[in-house]
Amino acid sequence: MKNQDKHKSEKKSSLGGFRRLVILGGGESGVGAALLGKQKGHEVFVSDKGEISKKYKEVLLNNEIDFEEKNHTESKILNADVVMKSPGIPDTVPLILKLKENGVQVISEIEFAAKYTEASIVGITGSNGKTTTTLLLHHILKNAGLNVGVAGNIGDSFAQQVAEQDYNNYVLELSSFQLDGIEKFAPHIAILTNITPDHLDRYEYDFNKYIASKFRITKNQSSADYLIYDVDDEAINNWLKVNKIQAKLVPFSLEKELEYGAFIRENNIIINITKDTINMPISALSIKGKHNTKNAMAATMAAQLLKARKQVIKESLEDFEGAEHRLENVAKVRDVVYINDSKATNINATYYALECMDNTTVWIVGGVDKGNDYNDLLPLVREKVKAIVCLGVDNEKIKNTFGNVVDIIVETAGAEEAVKVSHKLAERGETVLLSPACASFDLFDNYEDRGRQFKAAVRSL
Ligand code: ADP
Repeated sequence: MKNQDKHKSEKKSSLGGFRRLVILGGGESGVGAALLGKQKGHEVFVSDKGEISKKYKEVLLNNEIDFEEKNHTESKILNADVVMKSPGIPDTVPLILKLKENGVQVISEIEFAAKYTEASIVGITGSNGKTTTTLLLHHILKNAGLNVGVAGNIGDSFAQQVAEQDYNNYVLELSSFQLDGIEKFAPHIAILTNITPDHLDRYEYDFNKYIASKFRITKNQSSADYLIYDVDDEAINNWLKVNKIQAKLVPFSLEKELEYGAFIRENNIIINITKDTINMPISALSIKGKHNTKNAMAATMAAQLLKARKQVIKESLEDFEGAEHRLENVAKVRDVVYINDSKATNINATYYALECMDNTTVWIVGGVDKGNDYNDLLPLVREKVKAIVCLGVDNEKIKNTFGNVVDIIVETAGAEEAVKVSHKLAERGETVLLSPACASFDLFDNYEDRGRQFKAAVRSL
């Protein structure tokens, strides 16, 4: 054994398996992992290439956690036993490649935090519907009296909650980037809402790689675990045909009746995974649209598997308030309804938004395109959209795709301008829909910023 290797294995044998934990990225998940790491006795170092926000710097300072910002000092990183990488950092950056070459384990916050909790975990992934399904399931389980935390892109990080609260149950929203960084993480219940092309820039523009990443959610599950999934989804079905899954499969469908799972019969949701069959009219759901019916089916089945009572589930489905920036009703101004769907950052999300539109629509779209094929939207746009208001720096693809289909296409450079233009274009009884199908980074900080600016502009009309 080389000296260096010997040194490494000695280090690993101390303190619960390893000693030096380096965290790349000083955001919510990084700082949460730092707190947990420190609590568990690791030597923790946080490194962020950008600036760490004041809020997180204070946490690090107060907890005497060593950190650096605006730089990655390699000598302080390459000596890690384990590296926890923020999901925002691609696997392909030179530093990560170097760490991997040196045999350093690079994991995500989810993998790291899960090591330190015995809680029962529901992991929710998919291209769309993660946040809605996560919040809905958390709402049901809380009402059912479970001791349950919610994390993963929502609120406090999973790691911080494990350090400070350690709930008996967690509902975790998991992005494919989080899943890329797992090794042993095994949720008791996994939900795969759907898989459509998204984030392809991070997967070498190979859809199969992105699908494989999503399915990592089930790779460590056993036959005592469950995988809830959309059986109508082509990408999911194709994968299941050729890959063996250990977990018990629990499907949901809008298209066909199932012997075991969730499906629709005469506008009722039927769920028959336990002796206690659930039967509930779709119209009773507080969140609207076909996509939300699917989200509700998935959350309901997870809640039933966790023994929530039928009555509590039904009541929770009726009074769930929905999530901000997801088909959020903003206001009615001169009989025109304004809807904020800023979170629609890909084609599939926008597809469902347009499908929900009952009235003629002025559609605000555009931003940073992650490899969009707008053709899938053509039939809906033809049927429902009277004008397109572009809200992005580069709108060529939108103009090319819809130029022959929609008479009015206007380019704007900010939320306020987009709202003013839409206001002029929309007539009484019509709808203005912000559903951009794109990320927001060209003109906004993030989708929340875009949504808030949109809402503020609507409210000051
Ligand atoms: P995610 O967390 O996966 O991004 P959200 O719940 O935040 O999902 O919803 C993102 C966007 O996708 C919103 O525009 C929402 O209306 C839409 N959406 C929600 N659920 C689904 C679904 N099951 N299928 C397709 N689109 C959905």
